[in-house]
This record gives sequence, structure tokens and C-alpha cells, in this order.
Amino acid sequence: MDKRYDVIIIGAGPAGMTAGIYAKRAGLDVAMLENAAPGGKMVKTFEIENFPSFTNINGADLSYKMYEQTQALGVDYLYGDVIDVIDGDIKTIITDDGNEYKANVVIVATGTKERLLGIPGEVEFTSRGVSYCAVCDGAFFKNKTVVVIGGGNSALEESLYLTQFAKKVYIVIRRDVFRADDIAQDKVCSNPKIEIIRKHIPIEIIGDSKVTSIVLENVDTKERTTLETDGIFPYIGADPNTSFISSLGITDEAGYVVVNKEMETSLPGIYGAGDCNIKTLRQIVTATSDGAIAAQNAFHYIKG
Ligand code: NAP
Repeated sequence: MDKRYDVIIIGAGPAGMTAGIYAKRAGLDVAMLENAAPGGKMVKTFEIENFPSFTNINGADLSYKMYEQTQALGVDYLYGDVIDVIDGDIKTIITDDGNEYKANVVIVATGTKERLLGIPGEVEFTSRGVSYCAVCDGAFFKNKTVVVIGGGNSALEESLYLTQFAKKVYIVIRRDVFRADDIAQDKVCSNPKIEIIRKHIPIEIIGDSKVTSIVLENVDTKERTTLETDGIFPYIGADPNTSFISSLGITDEAGYVVVNKEMETSLPGIYGAGDCNIKTLRQIVTATSDGAIAAQNAFHYIKG
């Protein structure tokens, strides 16, 4: 590919799409380069209740609204899985299908990916009862029993979503307190379909052609119990999708992009935005804020 863009944004979640909107409105020639549908984690989220202007909106709908705005402005949407970024006055982005894209500025907005439990049976039963996306697979568990692992916002919000289908939802947490915010905790604790199992960790997933049970261990007594279930939804946090920039020296030991408040990395012309950055609050609003700041600074960098 010979065309050189002013800005290529890697990732089209809320950070990337907002960066696209701001960069395009600043008169720059912009593309978003994505390996999936627009929206990132948002598109897999059932209900969003903390994005200003919508009391409640489905994640796929919000993703589409943002995407429509980028397309109305004329932001290019490129499909590809990025495997490398080569720094220089002109940056080169290489995808796994052998394409090379050139840009003066790169904004890394690739978000995070779900963490695995790392226990026996997890890989074997993925898509056979183990799922990392309640919105995608919840309907398969109508009148069934499911187990959600984790006590953060994702685990609690997706548990509530699963109660629409499942007859019983267990939430397994390793401490005796949740990490999620109070609103999600209140909703979970008052839902009659949800039972919370505290101070337990998953040890093994068991099944035949599909999941049939999970072995849990009490963290204090080490006593093990087998809980019958049809489905298991691990929501134990996430890691940054940044392996493709690991050689650039702009990430920390966990892989998060190190930026200053202007979203600048230590490499001129390379910015980070959204959940893949080191930050304390990972929300759609903070991602969109990062995207706007990164795009505005990309404009100043390009125009001198
Ligand atoms: P998270 O907040 O990091 O929570 C992860 C949960 O999984 C914690 O309860 C953690 O337990 C547990 N856990 C971690 N490793 C485990 C293991 N090996 N075995 C069992 N349990 C394990 O992750 P998240 O819920 O995916 O959220 C990620 C970020 O997105 C957070 O910043 C969150 O606030 C944000 N988010 C926000 C919203 C919203 O505002 N509506 C929705 C979704 C996500 P411990 O607590 O004991 O460490």
C-alpha cells in the first residue's frame, strides 16, 4: 500500500474512534486500523449506564453510533491485525497479512484482552461451556446454571445480564469483598437468581462433550467442592493488547503504554489512548478523553 496517512489509529474502540473524529475534524487524513468490528469491549457489553447522554444504552448500539460518526466524517476503516510498528519520521505499520501502512503519526488504542484462568479444562471447554462473552453466548444458557468467576464490574454486570436466561448464576470471588462499584454490588446482591460464593478459587473445569462442573477450592481451608454447572464465564480482568509494540520500549513491564498527560509516548509521533495506557480509571469516558487529547496533539505534531 503506497498511500501515506497523516494519522493511523490502531484500534477502533471508544478511544480510537474518538481520536478519528477529532483528527478528521482537524483536517487530517486519518485511518483506523482494526482487526474486528468497531467498538472494542463496548460492543460486547450489554448495558452501559455511565456514558453521559444515555441513561441506558446497549454496547453494540453505542459502538455503532460512534462508528457512524467516524464514517460521516470520512475516517478510513482498514482491516488488519498489526504485528509490528517501525518508528521513524514516517512510521510503518505491518499487519499479519503482509500489508504495510505508512503514517506521520500512530495512535495506539488497542485496549485490553480478557485474562485466562489458566486451569485444567479451560482451553479444552472454551466454546463448549466456557465463554468470555456473556452478551455473545448468554442465550445458549436458557434455564441453565452458570458460574461467573471474578468480582469486578465486568463479572457483576455480565452476571446480571446472564440472569435474563439462566435459572441460576453463581458468582465466585476469591476474597470476601467485591472489587466492583457499589451500584453493581447492590444489584447483584438483590437479584434472587444470583448466589455469591466467597473466598473460593477455581481449580479445574470438568465435562464430557460440554462443561458439567467446576472444582472450587476454599482459600482458607483448602477444602475442594464440585459445583455442577452448564456454563463458566471468567471475568478476572484483562491485559493490554500491545505485544506488537513491545520492541519500541514505550510499554511498562505489564505491557501498558507509558504516556504523559498529553498521551505522548517517549517516541515523537507515537501516542497511546484508552485502556491500553497506564491509567487508574478504565471507562468509556476516559477512553474518549484520551482519544481526543491524542488526536489534538497529533495535529500539533504534524502541523508544527
Ligand atoms: P477487575 O476490575 O480487575 O476485576 C477482576 C476481578 O477478578 C477481581 O474481583 C479479582 O479479584 C478477580 N480475579 C483476578 N484474577 C483472578 C483469578 N486468577 N482467580 C479468581 N479471581 C481473579 O477487572 P474487570 O471487571 O474486567 O474490569 C476491568 C476494568 O474495566 C476496571 O478498571 C473496571 O472498573 C472497568 N470496567 C468498568 C465498568 C463500568 O464502569 N461499568 C464495566 C466493566 C469494566 P480481586 O478483587 O481479589 O483482585
